[in-house]
Amino acid sequence: MLSQLIYTSQAISGLTDACLQDIAVTAARFNSMVGISGLLVFDEGCFLQVLEGDDAAILPLYQHIKQDRRHRNVVKLIHEPIAKRRFAKWGMRLVAEGVDPGVDGEPTPVQPYGSASALENWRELFITDAFAHLTEDRVRTVLDAFTRGRWHQRTAAAPSAAPANGRPESGELFIPGCALSDEQRQGLPQQAPLFAFQPIVDFENGRISSYEALLRGPAGEPPHSVLNAFTGAALHRFDLHSKAAAMAIARQLGSEARLSLNLLPESLLVDDDAVDQLVRAGAACGFSPDRMVLEVTEEEAITDPERFAAAVNRVRAAGMRLAIDDFGAGYAGLSLLADFQPDKLKIDRCIVHNVHENGPRQAIVRAIVEFCYCLGISVVAEGVETAEEFHWLRSAGVHRIQGYLIARPQLCALPPVCWPG
Ligand code: C2E
Ligand code: MN
Ligand code: MN
Repeated sequence: MLSQLIYTSQAISGLTDACLQDIAVTAARFNSMVGISGLLVFDEGCFLQVLEGDDAAILPLYQHIKQDRRHRNVVKLIHEPIAKRRFAKWGMRLVAEGVDPGVDGEPTPVQPYGSASALENWRELFITDAFAHLTEDRVRTVLDAFTRGRWHQRTAAAPSAAPANGRPESGELFIPGCALSDEQRQGLPQQAPLFAFQPIVDFENGRISSYEALLRGPAGEPPHSVLNAFTGAALHRFDLHSKAAAMAIARQLGSEARLSLNLLPESLLVDDDAVDQLVRAGAACGFSPDRMVLEVTEEEAITDPERFAAAVNRVRAAGMRLAIDDFGAGYAGLSLLADFQPDKLKIDRCIVHNVHENGPRQAIVRAIVEFCYCLGISVVAEGVETAEEFHWLRSAGVHRIQGYLIARPQLCALPPVCWPG
């Protein structure tokens, strides 16, 4: 299938003109052999390349580029089927400072071209007839954004490379954990639900932002198997009342940190005084409202937006914090955010997964960081599993991190945080 793949990367430092020339010549030769056309743009230490051709040729080449030591931080922006090539007549050429991309005639690469920047070269190309067909093309917008510095500032801002052991070199963080003793476990009320706890770590300030309480069955079963035993108002009442058990366990664990509590939005509406019930349950075990963060998603349609808005106001008036959970997962989306600006926004793990090599996910995270900054909302990334994701997120300004990389949830225990571990 004919497709187009666009990636950006950062060149190793000190890439010489000769080396660049070599890349361009080899690329032109190899790509014409395997039927790949496109464009290689080099600007201030960063590459953007458009590859078009059969997937059977493009994908092995892309794998090869990812292994090539002259490229770092290779990030895929677009990979999709196309109906026809944009650069058919053109082969594969280089657009770079001091290089004549040559518009007509044979696809001969690299000739000295004064001192024009890649941007100027690019502009000159676009005003030629040879590129009239790209006027409303997505590839042109992406190239424009790159040469105007958007993608390339971003590529350069990414960490140059994860340290050899995959962990940051300095900035130690050690926060001990603690677990309920067998005696304390047995002392819990018979029918009370159990909770596992997982830290959300604030790496900017080197502290626990909060522990998230995650519902568990008697043998550690996952939340949905517990919640599925209920429907309608009974579900919402159980959800609401279970938070007292979460706070009671957290109190026994002796934590001074905040506690994040998951709630279905409707659980805040099940009784008129639902929010006050939470405040009272907290007070009973020494949890002031300012140590409570309520995490809601849009998983469940909010049936009565006016009552929900009133409940959110009560949450605020009581001094609790509000977080939108699983942002970007499909159900917790912009409409919730348009109506209720939370104190925290948790980026869903489907966006976090492999973010270090995925251009669209990076653009989404950058946009979230930007609007959250403007609205004074703190951003949390959840489901961080690898050091590469961690480093990329931190370089993009996300400092609150939750995920298996830092600590897995533990039943009736606050897991220790040891970073770098
Ligand atoms: P959530 O609020 O997004 O909680 C995070 C979930 O992601 C937890 O799953 C946690 O174990 C998991 N997780 C954390 N780090 C990682 C990671 O690095 N990789 C992966 N793959 N997973 C990670 P869990 O405990 O199974 O909870 C699932 C969902 O159940 C929660 O998602 C939350 O929406 C819901 N839930 C949990 N407790 C309650 C509760 O008391 N009430 C309600 N209504 N829902 C709850
Ligand atoms: Mn949650
Ligand atoms: Mn979540």
